[in-house]
Amino acid sequence: MQILHPFAGSIQQYSEAISDPDLHRPDHCPQCAAQRPLTAHGFYTRTLTDVASGGVIRVRRYLCQACQRTVSLLPEFVLPYLRSSLAVIALFLIALLFRGQTLQSAAASAPPPMPYQRGQFWVRRFRAQAEALCAALAALTQPAPARDFVHRALAMLESTGWIAAHRFLFAGVRCHLLGWPRGLAPDGRRAALSTAAAPA
Ligand SMILES: [Zn+2]
Repeated sequence: MQILHPFAGSIQQYSEAISDPDLHRPDHCPQCAAQRPLTAHGFYTRTLTDVASGGVIRVRRYLCQACQRTVSLLPEFVLPYLRSSLAVIALFLIALLFRGQTLQSAAASAPPPMPYQRGQFWVRRFRAQAEALCAALAALTQPAPARDFVHRALAMLESTGWIAAHRFLFAGVRCHLLGWPRGLAPDGRRAALSTAAAPA
């Protein structure tokens, strides 16, 4: 299973932090009743396109000796199954839906530029989630006055910060920010809600 890695910092800092297996080692298994710290179990790699860079990141994996299942620590700036980082997606949605750029110009000026079809996919999912997102975000911030749910959701996300909302959604309503079905979204974990767990 995947759990969210409560990490605040740059991708570079993340890469350094996960080299130490003890730094974010889960102290119990989220999948069985075992209350023992998990064993470091290597990494897997995945591609990630971010504002500043594109490339490959490592994702830390742990093994539960009791149930023999693995847990991977997905950093919060990454959305499962999407190549682009949350920051890239946020900038694109703001440019298109808030500033009124066209799909083509938002895609062309996105950092890095990308095929407009990718943005179209995000927009479709965001629109479908907007109303539920507003309801969920009301726990974090005041509902913003806006002409529709899409604009209200964007304003609220700008106010809470996208990563804070990402964490909240995983732990709370367990529905993915961009509308993936529940079955595909990683499970949240309570610890991810605690800001004390995040390194400075
Ligand atoms: Zn276990």
